[in-house]
Amino acid sequence: KAKRQGRNTYQWYTDELNRKVTNRVNLRHALQQAIEQSQFELHYQPQIQGATGRVTGVEALIRWYHPERGYISPAQFISLAEDTGQIMPISEWVLERACRDAVELNARTTMPVTMAVNISPMQFQRAGFLLSIQRVLEQTGLAPDLLELELTEGVLMDSTEHAIQTLQDLRALGVHIALDDFGTGFSSLSYLKRLPINKLKIDRSFIRDVVNDTRDAAIVDGVVTMAVKLGLEVLIEGVETAAQYAYLNARYCAHFQGFYFARPMPMLAISSYLNESHHPRNDAEPHPM
Ligand code: C2E
Ligand code: MG
Ligand code: MG
Ligand code: MG
Repeated sequence: KAKRQGRNTYQWYTDELNRKVTNRVNLRHALQQAIEQSQFELHYQPQIQGATGRVTGVEALIRWYHPERGYISPAQFISLAEDTGQIMPISEWVLERACRDAVELNARTTMPVTMAVNISPMQFQRAGFLLSIQRVLEQTGLAPDLLELELTEGVLMDSTEHAIQTLQDLRALGVHIALDDFGTGFSSLSYLKRLPINKLKIDRSFIRDVVNDTRDAAIVDGVVTMAVKLGLEVLIEGVETAAQYAYLNARYCAHFQGFYFARPMPMLAISSYLNESHHPRNDAEPHPM
């Protein structure tokens, strides 16, 4: 009996493995079709300046609507696309779409709105990356200081001379650099000193329980204090409740992003969102500037 059970377990594992492999193969083919048939969209999530309640930027987030399977989350396909190299054409499309939309949004708003774009490790490390940024800025006419590139700690971990040089070149262009999901990677604080970064985006995992969990509160407090002393801007991700926002906005001079303010939304919706008059949410006293 034990033997059969063992075999069943083994059988189960191979089935599971096959299913995963097949899924990946299928997904890869589906992704190829998605690229060829432009099944992607960008949604935009507002970023709010705590002190004024103003929307100062939006983050571009990719959406894939498969004709049969429906919506597929970027969490499910971005890492596969990295492995297969399909991330390259996808990233190129994202960058161009986001910059075009940024120009259009800024033409309709009185105050400048920054466009934050997520950059994948492979995209950043590619030799022609700087050139592709220069080209898209030229082609779309977007002012460089309205473009913010979101990099994760992983990209910068092995901060080679090449990576540092690329960042410096980007900054020289006027483009802004944000470090995404800060605190979740195997970070070395030394790169905060060495790398020309403008902004830290504090990961939402620290925010979920920040009001009640003194350890999360201590981490957020430490990171924000350090960032401010280093002259970096801070954006706090994943704000979902009025209580979280009240707590954070009373303590820190920061920018905020999260479902509490708005979910990512299509171009048409963000465009009207930006043009509605957004009075600062007054359920929190802002931190004095
Ligand atoms: P990210 O860059 O950290 O983006 C923020 C993610 O958190 C988004 O998920 C957003 O919808 C979600 N989010 C925003 N506010 C809240 C909140 O209050 N609560 C919760 N629970 N979640 C919130 P999304 O759109 O599913 O994207 C997941 C990740 O996929 C992104 O994380 C980013 O790493 C990657 N990604 C998305 N679009 C792109 C892209 O165009 N290019 C690349 N390379 N990666 C992308
Ligand atoms: Mg991001
Ligand atoms: Mg993030
Ligand atoms: Mg993330």
